[in-house]
Amino acid sequence: MTTQNNTTVPTVASAPLVRLICCCCGGVTRGRQFFNQDTGYGLGTCCVEFVKPRVQDMARTYGIEGVHYLAPQAVGAPK
Ligand SMILES: [Zn+2]
Repeated sequence: MTTQNNTTVPTVASAPLVRLICCCCGGVTRGRQFFNQDTGYGLGTCCVEFVKPRVQDMARTYGIEGVHYLAPQAVGAPK
């Protein structure tokens, strides 16, 4: 655990990745629960490229890239 990213990343970023159901295609993905998504659901890595051009406010709808979706699989992995 490190705290060096706390200035730029919300505290949720230090939470463990969880198994989520992709809210777009229903596939299994890994990410973090976002309050605007139903419990257990989140944007899957599988569908990020699909929804990005179609959603006006990604941050409000799906959360933060690299935190709630497209999160690195391993701790300390480069972005
Ligand atoms: Zn998907």
